Amino acid sequence: MKIIPIFIPHAGCPYRCIYCDQHKISGALNLPAIKEIKSVINRNLKTIPRKERMEVAFFGGTFTLLPDTLQKEYLGAVYPYIKNKKTAAIRISTHPEAVSKHNMNLFKSMGGRLVELGVQSLDKGVLKKSNRVMDPDEIGKAAWIIKKSGLDLGVQVMLGLPGDTLEKAIKTAEKLIELKPKTARIYPAIVLKGTTLGELFKKGRYEPLSMQDAIEWSARVCDIFEKGGVKVIRIGLHPSQDLNSKGTILAGPYHPNFGGMARARQMRYRIINILGPKKILNRRAIKIYAYKSMFSFISGHKGEEKRYLERCYGVPILFHSLNHLRSPIGDRFRSANGVVVKIIEVRKSIAIIDPRMPHQAKIRLKQMGYCVREVPLHPKLAGPVKGHPDTMLFYHGKKVIYEPRMEKIAELLRNNGYECIKGESIKSKEYPNDIIYDVAAVGKFIIRYNGRIEKNIEILKAKFIGVKQGYVKCSIVVVDDKHIITSDKGIKDIWGKNALLIRPGSIKLPGYKTGFIGGASGSHKDKVFFTGSLKNHPDGRLMREFIEKTGKKVVELSAGKLYDAGTILFFDAIPARRSYHLHRVGVRSYTYAVEVVNTLRFLRV
Ligand code: SF4
Repeated sequence: MKIIPIFIPHAGCPYRCIYCDQHKISGALNLPAIKEIKSVINRNLKTIPRKERMEVAFFGGTFTLLPDTLQKEYLGAVYPYIKNKKTAAIRISTHPEAVSKHNMNLFKSMGGRLVELGVQSLDKGVLKKSNRVMDPDEIGKAAWIIKKSGLDLGVQVMLGLPGDTLEKAIKTAEKLIELKPKTARIYPAIVLKGTTLGELFKKGRYEPLSMQDAIEWSARVCDIFEKGGVKVIRIGLHPSQDLNSKGTILAGPYHPNFGGMARARQMRYRIINILGPKKILNRRAIKIYAYKSMFSFISGHKGEEKRYLERCYGVPILFHSLNHLRSPIGDRFRSANGVVVKIIEVRKSIAIIDPRMPHQAKIRLKQMGYCVREVPLHPKLAGPVKGHPDTMLFYHGKKVIYEPRMEKIAELLRNNGYECIKGESIKSKEYPNDIIYDVAAVGKFIIRYNGRIEKNIEILKAKFIGVKQGYVKCSIVVVDDKHIITSDKGIKDIWGKNALLIRPGSIKLPGYKTGFIGGASGSHKDKVFFTGSLKNHPDGRLMREFIEKTGKKVVELSAGKLYDAGTILFFDAIPARRSYHLHRVGVRSYTYAVEVVNTLRFLRV
């Protein structure tokens, strides 16, 4: 939609709002002659593509308080263009108390479509301080007459007038939504030379909004309107030669691209709304998929919004052009409403380890791109195993049961889509009290100690296999859903041919004579990790062959002896299956709207 503006500066207006100088705002000095109106329309018709819908708008005064004859002349000047289908309709701006059935009918009969009410604020105190003669309780009546006449309603609000606060501005927007307007304009108050506001400012009795506050308020108010189904068609004053000329603006948040700045702020909040305000330890990057032309808009003025988001989340914001990279998003980029912007979080996989695991192994995991988290040492467990993840945490599918001391780790896992249940405390290092979490999940089976285990694990929906061994997970390398390696004869016998039995021993566990093979390992995707080298185990070759036969790779994290670190537990971020269809975001001008469809998708390392 293209608007052809015709300015009627201050015409018809009997009031004197303290901020108003329509001559300076519009850049027009006098009322336009009929000839001028026609020539403005003709000039615009030459430059606007024929397919584009066009409306002529009378702005800058109180149209409906003009004498009837003048109203008719102005409307009559435009009407032939409507009849010949060269323009679609007319819109006007007027004061809420200047709306009557008579003038609405006149306007409608001569091609009128939309009436914009200059509301500015619905707070009585703000209106009074701004010398704005308007009863906020009467606005509903004006809206009703407009709608009853078959016309569309538009509203204009001004932010930061004397006595205004963000709360009052939000309240105004919320009340206006109830009137169901079609469009809204948001203007931050600017101090113009020659106005009463200008005098107050000079005397130090009025402080305009700072640029940052004005952006913030505008973004918030805009969001409220849009969530209420109101299309925001303008934020900030339209730059005119007069406004830009030196000395016209005494103070206030004026910027030729103010609307773009407010929109970018709005986008910042929408992104935060989707991702949550938190830094997440294993977040690697935030990818924004959009058309190239959107990059600078989303980045904000001089990259301000992008920098803010990077500081807020501690990860880079990476822009990807939809033109070039269709995968991994795949689905629709364009919608009926405009351009689609998608936001994808990239998360590192998590490796949970004993803090005493060999340094070289830790470094290697980090180099491989894992988010490595160390578990706290548990004071009730025996020294050699007090940092073993498998003695304090068990997971099966999305469910994680954790010892209360693992709360921080559980929080991280929750943030990655896991359902974490706080389990029982480990009360003593005496066997079997120390092994209540030491249970192994292999595919749909859970191999467990025949005696007591943690009560939340016991009630999981799975096929349980009971064994005599208490240190179950420590004793098992889970190769895949079918294959295991163990040095425990009882476990081998129960699992059958898909279990490789190796000799016990040859595994370091300071404080004990030997450790277990399961504790020296961890499985993730197509890899089986070992804390040391298989060359240092008498059955190392056998294990390698067994693993490789299943199609998995062996990763030796250090060159030393295998070290029982209580299993490396790996977790991937669980993809969020939600799709966010947010409200439209208009960009730069009301002719270009954007529907933001955000899909949170976690890309794994
Ligand atoms: S009613 Fe409108 S035109 Fe009249 S003084 Fe107030 S802002 Fe200016």
